[in-house]
Order: sequence, then structure tokens, then C-alpha cells
Amino acid sequence: MRRVFNFSAGPAALPQEVLEKAQAEILDWHDAGMSVMEMSHRGKEFMSIAAQAEADLREVMAIPDNYKVLFLQGGASSQFAMVPLNLLRGKTSADYYRTGSWSKKAIAEAKRYCDVNIVADTETGGKFTTVPEEGSVTFNPDAAYVHYTPNETIEGVEFSYVPDTGDIPLVADMSSTILSRQIDVSRFAIIYAGAQKNIGPAGLTIVIVRDDLIGNVKEGAPAMFDYAVHAKNDSMYNTPPTYGWYLAGLVFAWLKEKGGLAAMGEINQRKAEKLYAAIDASGFYANPVANHCRSWMNVPFTLANADLDATFLAEAKEVGLVTLKGHRSVGGMRASIYNAMSEAGVDALIAFMADFEKRHA
Ligand SMILES: *Cc1c(COP(=O)(O)O)cnc(C)c1O
Repeated sequence: MRRVFNFSAGPAALPQEVLEKAQAEILDWHDAGMSVMEMSHRGKEFMSIAAQAEADLREVMAIPDNYKVLFLQGGASSQFAMVPLNLLRGKTSADYYRTGSWSKKAIAEAKRYCDVNIVADTETGGKFTTVPEEGSVTFNPDAAYVHYTPNETIEGVEFSYVPDTGDIPLVADMSSTILSRQIDVSRFAIIYAGAQKNIGPAGLTIVIVRDDLIGNVKEGAPAMFDYAVHAKNDSMYNTPPTYGWYLAGLVFAWLKEKGGLAAMGEINQRKAEKLYAAIDASGFYANPVANHCRSWMNVPFTLANADLDATFLAEAKEVGLVTLKGHRSVGGMRASIYNAMSEAGVDALIAFMADFEKRHA
């Protein structure tokens, strides 16, 4: 067996220790005589797994008591609809930042339910390479909420600050940056994230929602799109994604063991800084993103000669560095370096890039 360094943007690498623990428990979880996949979600075994996972996530993120944590399905993409359906509360418009591909998708979905007021649009010549300066944005005082994407996974553009929206609820699509560092959850009305980047396997979606915002779903909305239904039933209104929930719990326990998000944040910053430094120091690789908003998690880069892209990918694969192809809308390469990507993996990539440049530049 040979484990590669997997730079996939999502579904992404999981910590090897977590996979080994899942492997050890797969046939017989804690003497239950069955795997977690085969258990009733209402049995005491799974209930204990679910409760422990939530408790660990609350501890790791320091989630205040007045927030509910929901373990849902439907991906971040379902939240693009659930957010307006639950947060409009009779209002007719919401403010959105437009900073990349994922915020564009959130905007398109919100437009089905309300007027979308674009408070900032950073697209220039078809590209997104920056975020608005802190404090430069004016919000509509009648907005039901403000939505933004703290990390644009495809473009590798990340906010280094949390926008101050005053009393207007702030909603964040944290799919690709949740758990990458410490944050102050109390600044947010809702945080949501598909699991497959930095939490666990695909199929699980985590929603952290302030409890005073629950219970106002738009009339006619499906029950499955009502936060109140899920909150009241502890995310077990219907069958939850049990195995994903369990694996996410193993990841939260792993994070605690690693020193939590303070330690993770330091490692992630160091990983990102050394990769950007290597790119900037070379005349062969380039990253188009403004310095103040370069993502710690998704690092896009281009080669001086795009004709070498296929060779780069093939040679990288030979040495165990895989899934480096950039998103088709951006081109070039993208290295996603979430929590599960070790510093050794980033070092190996940097060394390979230097060697490739020497041979091909
Ligand atoms: C991956 C991603 C999504 C889409 O997530 P799904 O779980 O596939 O719906 C949305 N937003 C961001 C920022 C993402 O990275």
C-alpha cells in the first residue's frame, strides 16, 4: 500500500490516524458487534457517537450555548436555499458579497427567494483575485442578512477579517475554511459547511445557527428545509448521514489531540506561507491573488508555460503528489492544503516544484 499526498479540493484527504481508527472499528464498533454504518440512528450506540461528535465540535470551535449545531445532508448547496428560506423572516432583500464562484452560486439561488443586493463585486476581467478592504462596504439597513464566502475554494481568495455588519445577521459559507484556525463564532448568525473539505466525508453538512434565528421559515417551504424541524429533532427528523457524522467525530477528536484550532491555525499558516514564498521566489510559477487575501487552504498557481501543465501533473503523480489540476474555470494548478495535508506533504510539493522548474524552465 502506498498513500499519496492528495491535494484535492474536495472530497479531500482525511487524516491517516482517523482512517486507521475507522478501519479498526469497521467490523465491530466498541463491542456492538456491528459497524457504525449498520446501526440504528436512534439506538444508544449511535446516539452516543452523535452526542460526542457534537460536544467535541463545540469544544474545538468554542461554540456558545445559544447556537444549535445541525448535522444535515444536501451539501453547502442546499444551504444556498435554506438560508434565505429561514432568515428572510418577512423581509424582501438580503446583502451578498460577490467574490468568486461559490458566492456567485449562493447569489443565483437566493435570487429565487428575494432581492439580492450585491454589496461588493470583485470580478475584474472575468477573474476574482481579491476581496474588499475591511470597512469599505455599506450594508442595506433593511437587509434580512449579509452573506459572504470567507474562502473562495476555486479562486483561492480568502477574507483575513470578519465583516462588521452591526445588527444585521452575518451568514458565512465556510465549506473550505471551517476548522482551519480559531474564529469567534459569536460574530456569525449562521456558519455552514459541506463536510468534504475540512471536516469528513461527503454527504454531511454542518450548520451552526444562532437559536433566535430558528423558527421563522417561509410559508410553504419543505419541512426538510426548516432549521426548526432539524433543531427540534436533534438532526434526527429523518435518517441522518450516520457514517459521515461518526467520521467527522473522529476528526474532531483528532483535532483536540493535535492541540485544537490554535495549533492547527499555526500549522496551516506556516504551510501556506512557505508554498506562497516558493511560488513568489520563482520566475516560473505565479499566483494571481492579492497578497492580503491569499487562501491558507486552496493555493492556485500557474506555470510560465501552460504547455507544460500536463507534464507537470504526470511527473507530480509519479512521485505521489496527486489531484493538483486547477479548476477548469481558473486553469493551471491548485494545491488544496486542508488540515489533513501534513507539512511534509507541502514540503514534498515545494521540492518537486523546484526540481521541475530546474528541468523545464
Ligand atoms: C465545495 C463548496 C460548496 C459546495 O458544496 P456541496 O457540498 O457540493 O454543495 C459550496 N461552497 C464552498 C465555499 C465550497 O467550497
